[in-house]
Order: sequence, then structure tokens, then C-alpha cells
Amino acid sequence: MYEEPIFLEPFFQDRIWGGRKLRTFFGYDIPSDKTGEAWVISAHKNGPSIIANGLLKGKNLLEAWNDNPLLFGKEQGCGEFPLLVKILDANESLSVQVHPDTDYAKEMEDMPYGKAECWYVLDCEPDSRIILGHRAESREDFRKRVDAEQWDELLLPLAVKKGDFFYIPCGTVHAIGKGIMVVEIQQSSDITYRVYDYNRITDEGETRELHIQSAIDVINFPHHPVLPSKTAVNDGDLASMQLIKESYFTVYHWKINGKVKTPLKRDYLLISVIAGAGEISVNGQSFLLEKGSHFILPSTVKTYGISGKLELLVTHE
Ligand code: ZN
Repeated sequence: MYEEPIFLEPFFQDRIWGGRKLRTFFGYDIPSDKTGEAWVISAHKNGPSIIANGLLKGKNLLEAWNDNPLLFGKEQGCGEFPLLVKILDANESLSVQVHPDTDYAKEMEDMPYGKAECWYVLDCEPDSRIILGHRAESREDFRKRVDAEQWDELLLPLAVKKGDFFYIPCGTVHAIGKGIMVVEIQQSSDITYRVYDYNRITDEGETRELHIQSAIDVINFPHHPVLPSKTAVNDGDLASMQLIKESYFTVYHWKINGKVKTPLKRDYLLISVIAGAGEISVNGQSFLLEKGSHFILPSTVKTYGISGKLELLVTHE
């Protein structure tokens, strides 16, 4: 049986707002100086990650999910892989946007999932800001302010610093600002409705498409800020912080300084190493972990040990 971690190679995406930090911060071999996104744990057809080790080496995660559902504690025909982990380098600001919920995605886009997302800020420049929410009282009010381009009056900015964590429920207007690098953990969806793109021109000399009507359809009115409540648990050499727990995903920040050995308590875990180095041992085999490693612990793993000095983001359904 396949009792080992499944390491994944990122799928890179060029973006108008992308930069070079995925190379300088993580050492990834990125394809351009405008690389905006690394889809590091992805079974989405628009950018599946490739398996780097073991029996499934060379397959992508979408194939592994479809062909080997038992690895994820599932049965054949259980639907699409529900989660997607990305790293984003916002060398310039991302468009102001919103994502639909699952009901809307199914009905209007014929896609299985909406897109709730959350961000862990890996790094940012001084005075970096995100947009999170709006001040409009109704759809009509929102539309009026969009037409009048009253962006400063309409959108709610928020200062960010390294280590911050934000939850962005479906229907929340948002944008990652210039100079911010995040790990984004989200439902496996690629549906974005753009509200405002700063009138930017692409290399092809065009503006990117906006989707104002769909956006207004799915935006929550009025905006309600959601502050995830964090829970800290220290257990020996592990300092664990539950960053969020909601219906689509639960995410923890783990800081390990020493050695942790534990049974796998979920069907599978998605793990990203965001700082430091160490190793993971499973079934008598050891694997090196370094900043920028991403892997899945499949349900065939009974117990695992992680040692070293490192920080991880750990996600489960
Ligand atoms: Zn988004």
C-alpha cells in the first residue's frame, strides 16, 4: 500500500500583477518575471500539481484523486477534490473581486464549488493594504458608486502585516494589495467576478474583462466583517494555532521546534512548509522538508513524525 507523503510540484500561472518573489522567497524555478500564482496543492483542471515521488510520481493530483480515491478516504464517484492551496505574489494589486458560493456556482456556472478563501500573510512591504468589504447599503447603492468610480468611498481597506490571517467568505468584495505575499487556501474553484481592475492595460494592449452584474448578484449586502476566532494548543514541541474552522476547510498554523509524533486523525491532510526545515518520517522512511515543500498525508498513513525547526500550514476538509 502507498504509505508515504505525496509531495507536489507547483503549477505556475503568469498574472498581470505577478512578480519574482516566488523565486526569491521560495527558490522556485518560475517561468517568468510576472509569475503571480503557484498552485501548490491543486487538483483543479486549470492547473493541477504534479506528484514528485513514489508510485504515483509524474501523475497529477487530479488523476490521483480520480484513480485512487481510497488514498483520500473516499469512494469512486465522490465528486471533485474540494480544496486548493496557492501561493500568490502580488507585485501589483490584484483586481477588486468577489467569488460566488457553491449554490450559485452550480446553478450559474455549472461548476461544483464556490470559492470561500483564506489568506496567511507570508511577507509584505511596509504599509501594505488589502481590500476587505464595502460600504454600500444595497445593490443599487453599490451599482451607483461603481458607475461613478467612487472606489475610495465604496471599498474598505485594511492594513496588514506578516503573519496576519484573513477569512474571505463567498460574496465578500476583496483584493490583495501590492507588495503582499500570501498562502491562499480555498475551495477548489477558479470563478472570479472582477469589479475593478484599476483601468490596467495588459501586455496585449487590452483591459481585462469586468463582471459587474455577476459580482453584484453574489455580493453580500450589507458587508459583515468576519473575524476568525483562533485557538492555540501547545503540546510538547508543537505549538498549534487553529486559524479557522468552517464548513469547507479547517486550517492550522503549526510551529515545531524539536520532534512531534502523532497518528493521522483525518482522512488526509494538506501540508505546506512556510518556514524553516526538518524531516518527516512515515513507516520507517524519512523525507526532507524545507520552506516551499507541499505534500499530502494520505489516509494510508497511520502515524507520522515531524522533526526540525519549522512552520507549517495544515489543512483538512
Ligand atoms: Zn479572491
